[in-house]
Amino acid sequence: YKRQLQEVIGKSSVTTDDKHVELAANIGTPNDVPGVIKNDGEGVGLYRTEFIYMNSDHLPTEDEQFKCYKEVLEGLKDKPIVIRTLDIGGDKNLPYLKIDEEMNPFLGYRAIRLCLDKVDIFKTQLRALLRASVYGNLKIMFPMISSLEELLRAKEILEECKVELDSEKIGYSNNIEVGMMIEVPAAAIISDILAKHVDFFSIGTNDLIQYTTAVDRMNEKIHNLYNPFNPAVLRLIKMVIDNGHKNEIWVGMCGEMAGDKRMIPILLGFGLDEFSMSASSILPARNLIRSLSYSQMKDFSDKILGMATAQEIESYIEETFRK
Ligand code: PEP
Ligand code: MG
Repeated sequence: YKRQLQEVIGKSSVTTDDKHVELAANIGTPNDVPGVIKNDGEGVGLYRTEFIYMNSDHLPTEDEQFKCYKEVLEGLKDKPIVIRTLDIGGDKNLPYLKIDEEMNPFLGYRAIRLCLDKVDIFKTQLRALLRASVYGNLKIMFPMISSLEELLRAKEILEECKVELDSEKIGYSNNIEVGMMIEVPAAAIISDILAKHVDFFSIGTNDLIQYTTAVDRMNEKIHNLYNPFNPAVLRLIKMVIDNGHKNEIWVGMCGEMAGDKRMIPILLGFGLDEFSMSASSILPARNLIRSLSYSQMKDFSDKILGMATAQEIESYIEETFRK
């Protein structure tokens, strides 16, 4: 099997009937770049920038951030690199940034909500990203968007940063795609509306499962309820992909589900364009995708959408792939 995996290095991620998808990596720091190359990642689908903030004892400056983004963009040449803006709060906190204690941090002051409130912090990051954009193929992604207003406000602040850089005669790329994560059910439900204002969606299933099913992703006691096969979750995912495609944008996924070999056939059938996962899952995923027929997976995933329980879905998948 190991040899089989080495053999798909350099090959494209394509089904037996010629449907191509992109297999990208999730990274947390520039140190992860060699792993992306070694595992032949076709890009980065999620760069979690909060590690820059967490590994620092102060708010990282524009220059400090710029260096990290530039290093990743240069390290991966012209590959598409999706960099997500700060997603702090929830389970991740910064010792130097006081956030009041909350009853429900995952439902609280988090990610884009914090950035739209502390615009200085947000602008520092956006300026660093814009400046780095000339070194590669950068795409900017906003986390935890739950309404059109938030998305438009985030885009407006990005435009303000561009105007600032223009006036300072500092360059940036003029074809940066701007996208958003779909990880809040509200965003999935209005994805037809949101799709008209972004270049791509990336589905964050880690949070989407948590918020759709009201199951805390960190709570071991109810871990059995945190189930990616939940039909409500699968329906939302399908809806987001369809709404993206109706509006001619690409749809990726950067939650854990994208690298799960039991889910890949379904997601492929749903029409997902990009799968972003830990680098070590990329070659196994490519090997699997190259053995599957897109048209068969479409029928397979259609059948799954008609099922009533996670258990029924899981058994059907197991039975299908045992053959
Ligand atoms: C997600 O929610 O699926 C996701 C990729 O974001 P994170 O795991 O960083 O919350
Ligand atoms: Mg998330």
